[in-house]
Amino acid sequence: MNSLHPAPAGERLRRRWWRAALGTAAVLVALGGSTGLSAASPTRADDKPTPAPAKKEKPPEEDPEVKMGRETHEDLLKSGIKLIRDAKVVERVETIGKKVAAIANANPIPASYGSSKHVPYDYKFFVVDDPDINAFSLPGGFIYVNKGLLDYVQSDDELAGVLGHEVAHAAHHHVAKLQKEQSRLNTQMAAGLLAAILARVPTADTMNLLTGFQLIAIQKVNGFGQDAERDSDHAGIILAHKAGYNPVGMLTFMERLGRDQKTRPDVELGIFRTHPPERERAENMIAQLKEMGLPINRREVTNALKVQVRSVTASKEAPDTKLEGVSEVLLEGKVLYRTASADRAKQVAEALDRLLDSDLQIYDLSRQGATLLARGEPVLTMNPEDASLLDGANPTTAADQAYKLLRNALYRHLLNGAY
Ligand SMILES: [Zn+2]
Repeated sequence: MNSLHPAPAGERLRRRWWRAALGTAAVLVALGGSTGLSAASPTRADDKPTPAPAKKEKPPEEDPEVKMGRETHEDLLKSGIKLIRDAKVVERVETIGKKVAAIANANPIPASYGSSKHVPYDYKFFVVDDPDINAFSLPGGFIYVNKGLLDYVQSDDELAGVLGHEVAHAAHHHVAKLQKEQSRLNTQMAAGLLAAILARVPTADTMNLLTGFQLIAIQKVNGFGQDAERDSDHAGIILAHKAGYNPVGMLTFMERLGRDQKTRPDVELGIFRTHPPERERAENMIAQLKEMGLPINRREVTNALKVQVRSVTASKEAPDTKLEGVSEVLLEGKVLYRTASADRAKQVAEALDRLLDSDLQIYDLSRQGATLLARGEPVLTMNPEDASLLDGANPTTAADQAYKLLRNALYRHLLNGAY
């Protein structure tokens, strides 16, 4: 489940289908210069003098962006992109994606990049069998999410943010805009850039595809990518919010990605970093969420500092029958407290939740004997019966364990810069 296919095979596969994708895009861009895309701008002066005969019986023309997306999608399939068909996996993405897309179709959001021209698309969502944390979209509403990204998000809210971002790329016609801006460049190369920009192709792969001349050009057009990303981040937050999701998920996803990329040099994109740096994007998101008057509670959309209550089933959770029916309170999956009283467990969990929601700091915590305190107020006092459920601890050692668990969790999130 974790490793979907061995790395070398996956690498080869990616290279193969990206090469094909680049080839397709090249053809499409070439078409865009003459017939394909010019159909979208009938007001062009040079269209007028041509006394074209009336074509009354021609079937309704496919939207040029939809055509481009559909043809590229077909080529991706032919060239070996592996889609996941597992109904449960696909359904999750489709359910969230279609809600977000419905908002984009019904209430268009003004574009700061691309075009605000309102074209409702029949959005289609696909899950790619690829372990990389990535998502991308093609013109006309073809949206792809890698399995690696699905495993990485910690809530539907985070996924909704990502899908909103990708839907915005299509809804705001970013590719068409990029093509116009790149028309001065060699079309074949521009197509390569486009595909690379959209997909954030890892450096090693992209290096195989591009020559030195192309590398220089990539730096020149990097700016277009950044404007497109900013616009999609902004619109994605609004789309996710209007679709009923907590748009803070977009922020926490970006923050975690930024943190993890620091420790994972394999995802460093170097000059191919067409997305603005994650920190800058996260800062923009925080500003936008504040402007929208939305509270930023990261615990609601991530696993960070999550408090859970569960009842222990002896057969499964522990062979020790004395724990059967015991309720436990977990912090980030680790047992903080056990008690025979389900009500008591619920009370403790609620108290912890309230504290963590109110921006609890490490220095707010203390312990006196068997009592854990926060801001001087008792949160939890261990009695001998409850303490003995924690590997035979006594009340003081049990309280100390809980204190350290909470303190270490807070410390970890302080280091991460956000919780
Ligand atoms: Zn993007």
